Amino acid sequence: MRQQIAAANWKMNLTYQQGEQLLDGILNENIELANHQLAVFAVPFPYLTLATQKVSGRKNYLASAQNCSDQKSGAYTGEVAAEMLKSINIRYCVLGHSERREYFSERNQSLAQRVALCLENGITPIFCCGETLSIREVGAQEGYVETQLMESLFHFSEEDIRKMVIAYEPIWAIGTGKTASVGQAQEMHAHIRNLFAKKYNKATANHIPILYGGSVKAANAKELFHSPDVDGGLVGGASLNATEFSSIIRALK
Ligand code: PEP
Repeated sequence: MRQQIAAANWKMNLTYQQGEQLLDGILNENIELANHQLAVFAVPFPYLTLATQKVSGRKNYLASAQNCSDQKSGAYTGEVAAEMLKSINIRYCVLGHSERREYFSERNQSLAQRVALCLENGITPIFCCGETLSIREVGAQEGYVETQLMESLFHFSEEDIRKMVIAYEPIWAIGTGKTASVGQAQEMHAHIRNLFAKKYNKATANHIPILYGGSVKAANAKELFHSPDVDGGLVGGASLNATEFSSIIRALK
């Protein structure tokens, strides 16, 4: 079975102490993950070591960064390089979150460089894509997401592309309480999988986990994750509550 992933995106929330409490709350549930299931915590940079220590020895629980630089190293004050993440044993990194694209002007080309640097350092990118409300209102969402994938990912080899995780996050559903319907999520996930099948092949497309993000919570996770092409979720708000996120982990196929 394809990998199924519950990924928490803490964004710029929680103090170190609150983060520690949250991780303890979730880990104390002792949810056992099957071989194909992962729980990933994308925490702020200063908490990566803490998260790594907390999940160590827990099968398929992992810490993740929320971003990395598009440069290898050097005079880029305030940036964090993929190589630095590797040096503290981080194996996952969220890239291209819509908040990074909107507030920090991250473009498809720069994201392609970040993906390459992650791969060079053995880090799995959780690559985010998704359309705004105005794009969905005119029915242009499929083409929009295709361009995002084409410009950031589709020049990678089949071997590299098999190392990626995709997160489809309709921007109109992020932090708004509006969730895409199960039908809308499944339709876009199937479209994305089909794009990978056309560019690479069916087996590769079927190998890549595609997560849904946008107001996932305990109450809707099971229904969303039940869709054939939805392989878990990237979760913002609901990942800040131990009970909610534990239920989301339990909702994985
Ligand atoms: C996100 O940050 O990726 C996200 C989907 O946020 P939320 O779950 O709060 O909508």
